[in-house]
Amino acid sequence: MRYVTRYRIYPNKETEQRLFSAFNRCTYVRNWCLDHKIFKDSILPKLKQEHPELKEVHSKVLQNVVQQIGQNLTGLKKAKEIGRKVGKLRNKRVHSIIYEQSGFKINGDLLSLSKIGDIPIVISRPIIGKIKQISVKHNKTHKWFVSVISETSDKPTKTNGTQCVGIDLNLDTFSTDTDGKVVDNPRKLRTSEKRLRRTQRKMSRKVKGSRNRRKQRLILAKSHERVKNQRDDFLHKWSRYYVDNYDHIAMEDLNIGNMVSQHLHGLNKSIYDAGWRRARYFITYKAESAGKYVYFVNPAYTSQDCFMCGTRVPKTLADHTHSCPECGYTAPRDFNAAQNILKRACVGLDTPELTLVEIGTSALVQTSVSSSR
Ligand SMILES: [Zn+2]
Repeated sequence: MRYVTRYRIYPNKETEQRLFSAFNRCTYVRNWCLDHKIFKDSILPKLKQEHPELKEVHSKVLQNVVQQIGQNLTGLKKAKEIGRKVGKLRNKRVHSIIYEQSGFKINGDLLSLSKIGDIPIVISRPIIGKIKQISVKHNKTHKWFVSVISETSDKPTKTNGTQCVGIDLNLDTFSTDTDGKVVDNPRKLRTSEKRLRRTQRKMSRKVKGSRNRRKQRLILAKSHERVKNQRDDFLHKWSRYYVDNYDHIAMEDLNIGNMVSQHLHGLNKSIYDAGWRRARYFITYKAESAGKYVYFVNPAYTSQDCFMCGTRVPKTLADHTHSCPECGYTAPRDFNAAQNILKRACVGLDTPELTLVEIGTSALVQTSVSSSR
């Protein structure tokens, strides 16, 4: 099992300066590799010879920078191959460093980093298993964190439970599932999101490069951070509920892009996208460690198609009810969508590999009523 846990750290001025220097050196190496199109860490000795100051960074950290770009490039290539629109890797500043296997030690409330020094760490949750990797990050509101990846040798046993659920994530509420449970965004989060929109508008009115704009940028970063924290709180509880109560969970695959997100733009889109992405991520990793199954299905027409007979019933975002002219099936739009999502996971529509899954529940008996297309 793999665990990822985040802890706050408090470097003093001196260690902070060394961390920033390490970021700068990693930035140099990253961008050098991109400019020269060399993505093998065997280049590092030569680079270190030319730039002795690179030796002040732990060697594994630099190796990781080079390997990371290599992995990113492979990822982009794969995404391109399956027809997704991908950008190019650009030169950018590095705001984190990764220690893999070696160069770090956590002793009580002290994190020791090779070539950096000792930094106080708040172990807010116990570290489970053996630490494989730690990454040190500095965020836009000037806080320092480490993400600790640890592993234990045990594998979770896969459940043979049969409770299934389909979840539709939507704009009107947060989610609707096939058991009729509707979850709304918490009011606190909605308020913070509204404030974030306002802060963003204010920021865009400030003169570029001005002191006021710089000030506003910090306020904006704090606003983003608040939204993220509140959303994570909410989504941890939300995903915990589904993983605790169900064995098979079906959701839409966000990567394909659904109708709803085509109607969104700018900050609004990024707020929804971030929430939905996070929701999937939380469900996936919680399900994994609980031995539960998650399915991502093609999101095309999930809210348009009739769950009962498959007829495509066009709707706008303003239509809240699905009412089928063919078979007469009437249901709340998002509930019908959730049912379609579960059906697609079960019958493997558009996802042939899922036909192997044997699920025998009431939900499936229901789905077999519908004609398959
Ligand atoms: Zn119908």
